[in-house]
Amino acid sequence: VLTGTALHKSFGATPALRGVDVAIAPGEQVAVTGPSGSGKSTLLHCLAGVTSPDSGFVSLAGHRLDSLSEHQRTRVRRVRIGLVLQFGQLVPDLTAVENVALPLLLEGRRRPDAEQAARGWLERLGVGDRADVRPLELSGGEQQRVAIARGLVTSPDVVLADEPTGALDTVTGEQALQVLVEATRETGAALVVVTHDHRVAAHMERGIALRDGRVELVREPGA
Ligand code: ATP
Ligand code: MG
Repeated sequence: VLTGTALHKSFGATPALRGVDVAIAPGEQVAVTGPSGSGKSTLLHCLAGVTSPDSGFVSLAGHRLDSLSEHQRTRVRRVRIGLVLQFGQLVPDLTAVENVALPLLLEGRRRPDAEQAARGWLERLGVGDRADVRPLELSGGEQQRVAIARGLVTSPDVVLADEPTGALDTVTGEQALQVLVEATRETGAALVVVTHDHRVAAHMERGIALRDGRVELVREPGA
């Protein structure tokens, strides 16, 4: 459903990706691991279409992202991809429910409808009672659940999550990840999780390890 082919990306003289190929099948769960600076976030940003690779290309549901106009790319990305970044990415001036409803509003859904869907996701993630407060009043774990709800609300084909547990303590982090795994299983969305945590990686069906901007190791299902 989502593939990256021969992806290269440098920042000035610093190569971040040096020829990475990945293919994410519908509904599968993939961990991306590797040392700091190995290119994990850059890969995720390229797959999400928020960063353009210098060469190589990304295809989402058969559409090459580079062949789309900026407008089309933004739309496809918003509807088909759920992005969950480290907490702190919520809009501080909006309540939890407003944050989760935002992607739907941007797609032109009517507010009552969007907020009803948003509340539904917050309930499912166990933070329904926190729907009307702003991010500053939420704990790290609660913020993470709200961010996950926002990533899922558009029923994306793929959820891309960059270190969803990184900023949390172990227990809260594992709970947030568990919620993400269960929710994507339920909706049938594929899940790509960037993590430093090898126990987290072991939960996933498949693993991709990066080193110095290249794929160093691929762990297949059952291995
Ligand atoms: P971490 O585990 O620390 O999050 P990472 O594997 O996600 O690391 P990337 O963020 O993808 O690594 O970075 C890969 C390389 O690209 C690093 O050398 C980094 O310094 C560089 N880099 C990433 N983003 C930028 C940027 N916006 N500007 C300049 N250099 C960047
Ligand atoms: Mg990173």
